Amino acid sequence: MSDYFKNTPDGNGMFGEYGGSFIPPELQKEMDQITDAYYAISKSHQFISELRSIRKHFQGRPTPVYFARNLSEECGGRIYLKREDLNHTGAHKLNHCMGEALLAKYLGKKKLIAETGAGQHGVALATAAAYFRLDCEIHMGEVDIAKEHPNVVRMKILGAKVVPVTHGLKTLKEAVDSAFEAYLKDPVNAIYCIGSVVGPHPFPMMVRDFQRVVGVEAREQFFEMTGEMPDNVVACVGGGSNAMGIFSAFLDEPSTSLYGVEPLGRGDQTGDHAATLTYGRPGLLHGFKCYLLQDEQGGPSPVYSIASGLDYPGVGPEHSMLFDKKKVHYKTASDKECLDAFFKLSRKEGIIPALESAHAVAYAMELANAKPRQSILVNLSGRGDKDIDFVVENFGYGEDS
Ligand SMILES: *Cc1c(COP(=O)(O)O)cnc(C)c1O
Repeated sequence: MSDYFKNTPDGNGMFGEYGGSFIPPELQKEMDQITDAYYAISKSHQFISELRSIRKHFQGRPTPVYFARNLSEECGGRIYLKREDLNHTGAHKLNHCMGEALLAKYLGKKKLIAETGAGQHGVALATAAAYFRLDCEIHMGEVDIAKEHPNVVRMKILGAKVVPVTHGLKTLKEAVDSAFEAYLKDPVNAIYCIGSVVGPHPFPMMVRDFQRVVGVEAREQFFEMTGEMPDNVVACVGGGSNAMGIFSAFLDEPSTSLYGVEPLGRGDQTGDHAATLTYGRPGLLHGFKCYLLQDEQGGPSPVYSIASGLDYPGVGPEHSMLFDKKKVHYKTASDKECLDAFFKLSRKEGIIPALESAHAVAYAMELANAKPRQSILVNLSGRGDKDIDFVVENFGYGEDS
């Protein structure tokens, strides 16, 4: 197992044939510096113990594993939840943001720069910046700014500067371009902090490593509760960071099946989805190679999901490799299945999940039905407070209200 993490990715940042770094030379110099610093720092006792202390005292880790008794009774099977919704700021994203910001501090950086779509990564990074007394600049499309107002307010309260992006479709892709441009203007004082296991090397590796804490904790907690390993582990996949976090602890477990759940949106017939591994093919995006939903020219297709955090045409290079190797099974959940799971978990367990996480719950419910004797560990990546207004305005209070 330790061999897997030592050798994956390889020295060039490749996960099999995926990943790598396809960026302008001036940016490559910066990435090389970050890579070298990360390799050095990640072995430093001081860095590790500081991160450990942050996780415990600031983030409130470990988050619990919880046996969802009522949901299990309803669906069959035994469904357990890794409660990342109880991590500070309400999702798993703070796990890698605190790591990235700590690295920035060690590198002597003054400013964190990133893009955000729905604002979740922006809020987590603004939180990390406040903790480390770093400046924070979040680039966000004007369309998203209007749509995700509460997160914009949170970022500003936390002291971040929100830069509206006004060109093109004014959403995530333009925000990435804009954030890269800002970073290129000041690479000495600033660092670009990517929000998932995507982007050029070393980000897919670094973000995975920072998220491994989820898997390490969950494996130990699940074993303590049950005396065995889970039969199945389920996580939703946007870029793939929460999934890599929990999968990483079970990759060598022969009796555990791993399931990544992609957003099927309005269904494959319409093309309105973001099920990258299910329907995409290998291509290049944002400086790395991965499976990609693409048009005929190889450009990224417009994608859609009810969960903005899953709305990405690419996917992490490590997932692309694990898909080819069939080490992880990739499934889908539609908007409708997601909403059903959203209300079911809320009503049966008193836990309102993020719409992203509800995709994982939806597939877990299906699996529990099909395999009623088995255990299922779900990574509940975040809480649903951010989604409640949107859900109620568009879908009311669910079917059985
Ligand atoms: C951003 C987000 C995701 C998707 O990101 P991954 O990198 O695929 O984990 C999933 N769940 C929540 C709650 C999120 O905020």
